[in-house]
Amino acid sequence: MPKKPKSLRDLANPERELTHTIDGRGEGSRSSFEVINPSTAAPFARCPDASMDQLDRAVAAARAAFTEWSRRSFAERRRFLHKFAARVRDYADELATVITREQGKPLSNAAREIAGTAHSLEAMSNIKIKDQVLRNDGKNRITLQYRPLGVIGAITPWNVPVGLASHKIAQGLLAGNTMVLKPSPYTPLATLLLGELSRDILPPGVFNVLAGGNEIGQRLSEHPGIDKISFTGSVATGKRVMASASGTLKRVTLELGGNDPAILLDDADFDAMTPKIFGAAFANCGQVCMAIKRLYVPAQRYDQVCDSLANLAKNYRVGDGFEPDVQMGPLQNKMQYDKVLDVLEDTKRQPGVRILAGGHTLNQPGYFLAPTIVADIGDDARLVTEEQFGPILPVLKYTDVDDAVSRANDTRMGLCASVWTNDVEKGAAIAARLEAGTVWVNHHLGSEPDVPFGGFKESGLGREHGVMGVQSYMEPQVINVPVAATP
Ligand code: NAD
Repeated sequence: MPKKPKSLRDLANPERELTHTIDGRGEGSRSSFEVINPSTAAPFARCPDASMDQLDRAVAAARAAFTEWSRRSFAERRRFLHKFAARVRDYADELATVITREQGKPLSNAAREIAGTAHSLEAMSNIKIKDQVLRNDGKNRITLQYRPLGVIGAITPWNVPVGLASHKIAQGLLAGNTMVLKPSPYTPLATLLLGELSRDILPPGVFNVLAGGNEIGQRLSEHPGIDKISFTGSVATGKRVMASASGTLKRVTLELGGNDPAILLDDADFDAMTPKIFGAAFANCGQVCMAIKRLYVPAQRYDQVCDSLANLAKNYRVGDGFEPDVQMGPLQNKMQYDKVLDVLEDTKRQPGVRILAGGHTLNQPGYFLAPTIVADIGDDARLVTEEQFGPILPVLKYTDVDDAVSRANDTRMGLCASVWTNDVEKGAAIAARLEAGTVWVNHHLGSEPDVPFGGFKESGLGREHGVMGVQSYMEPQVINVPVAATP
């Protein structure tokens, strides 16, 4: 058991006052807002609400820290990030508890998010960025190299609050930038803790964390002291971020929503694959950007697949994430709960539709919805055309694979997709026809530190993860040197 500094004990106590991290120090705010536990729909903590002055000071601290941090070698910055990863592991239980309380996911899933956070901090900081000699022909040596951008504004959503932040921290800081991170006001607490845990590890000003409402995000996106925005969230907000960032022509990376299709081919091993498909649709209560949001099934196997999905849904254990054996928690907030219920009402009004499982809320406090399987719904219903971001899966029938591919592609989004088959080469060929940033064969979900991730179309702009991801936090620079003739 590592020795924990006195100041960092009792981190998961909801009574404990949490603070922003500005220039390596903790700071409260004059005003604060309530944080609600989605499993009870009741507030359990207050969160400091950063002022614009605090935002300006965080940006100034990050700018001041940039010169020294950017001059350090990759190896040095990597050591800092490895230490931070170890610190996160030391406090994994506390962080997971806070995530379950504020986000609602089962404690085992929150623990996985924290393990993933530590892993990403470590694995992404191991990525190597090398200069590339483009030409060396005796006359000129032309080298392409990458230099850090400056101060990164990082903005995160409420579905995987700390896990998604860790990608931005690792890539942004490894590249030599400093950062101001703003979590969602629905799930700010574990991210504030991350800031607190970093204070005696990272040099002051390198990593600042501010909690606050959407206006802090907007100001960050407009701020002249910020060089790049790395944003993860909805398509609508992503467009606003891009507009705000245009005033200073900031670099932007946008990781946005998805309406991911999965296509089951008629040769698939249905018994083995259906539970995997179910898991990839209902993970985190369907609140995953890359969850399966539409499932295309061949007509001759339609009833079989629908029955087995309905069976899985009826036996899925839903409840408070702290209860043992719970597999799915609530929707994370009232706004999302109301939105998903609205989509459900629209679904029920569709002609000929059948609700095979779920279709109702749970009779208890909290934002719970039973896992819902929907059959015989038209392609133009909201459940099919929009990102539901909740535990409702439409199962769509097809008779011809080309038709399934074109219906799968008929969306403004293009984050991920999957093809399920016993013939992986055939699966790979169909995968290449799908308009999505990542297409899996025989699985769906997961992001890997060394594999670029991002969306086609309105699912985003740019890529994170891997060499490409780290380079997106850097500016390419060409150095063109005449090669002196040998005397
Ligand atoms: P959201 O867009 O409502 O909010 C995301 C963040 O943006 C929050 O921190 C919010 O405070 C901030 N924000 C709000 N208005 C802003 C503005 N005008 N300027 C700057 N920042 C602003 O998203 P959400 O509801 O928190 O998250 C759910 C969405 O995120 C879903 O669409 C989901 O698919 C998407 N998502 C995408 C990925 C990915 O990697 N592609 C990962 C997770 C979630």
